[in-house]
Amino acid sequence: MVKCEKLKGWNPLAFLSTFDYTESHMAEFIVVHSIKVATEFVPETFGRLTTIGPRFLVSAGNIGRRVSHQVCKCSCGNLVVVVNGSLQTGYTSSCGCFQKEIASKRATKHGMRGISEYDIWRSMAQRCNNQKSSSYTNYGGRGIVMCDRWLDPENGFTNFYTDMGPRPSPKHSIDRIDVDGNYCPENCRWATHKEQARNKRNNKMITYAGKTLCLVEWDEEVGIPYTTIWARLRNGWSVEEALTTPVRRKKVLQ
Ligand SMILES: [Zn+2]
Repeated sequence: MVKCEKLKGWNPLAFLSTFDYTESHMAEFIVVHSIKVATEFVPETFGRLTTIGPRFLVSAGNIGRRVSHQVCKCSCGNLVVVVNGSLQTGYTSSCGCFQKEIASKRATKHGMRGISEYDIWRSMAQRCNNQKSSSYTNYGGRGIVMCDRWLDPENGFTNFYTDMGPRPSPKHSIDRIDVDGNYCPENCRWATHKEQARNKRNNKMITYAGKTLCLVEWDEEVGIPYTTIWARLRNGWSVEEALTTPVRRKKVLQ
């Protein structure tokens, strides 16, 4: 790392005052209490982003801790302010242009735009936020919300698509793992209607041999029908017995 005397005069606040917060991760840092700029800087590249200024610590609003940020230039030309940890971990590697490209490529490739993921995403948002939606009482009205990342007016759909990936088949829809939980990456997965119906009735989680899966997943894992596993457990079998005892064919009574 090279010591850079010129940076003593560099003022990230002046830069940030001209920065369009709505486009960046800095939205929550508008009220800056103090800012401390590193005096050493070597440009580094993370994916499409190259740092163009030293790290600066921001303590802001009611957030007690200082968070390290850096201004980066994306290969597409956009300037962004990024939390340094996101660069280091690889979580952020472009200004957002990369995800957009991937999403539009996939959407074009499979001809899905307008008929599938986008409609699913839009009706989720409607159920949670539009009081005029016929399903609102069962979703938004029950306090079920869509996470900010997917609700983002600019990138919401792209974020959703990036997190969930393409819909595996036309039979799949978004299933909330915890039916009282929100629409967010942690609580959602693609599942067929059949899987969803099963999971809602039999969403019992079973841990065996270091794995925790629901009944339907154990069915797929060990090749024993989930109805059998469920019946065995209800009849007092141990988890091990229920998951490892081969299924016997029913004897035909004569
Ligand atoms: Zn970019």
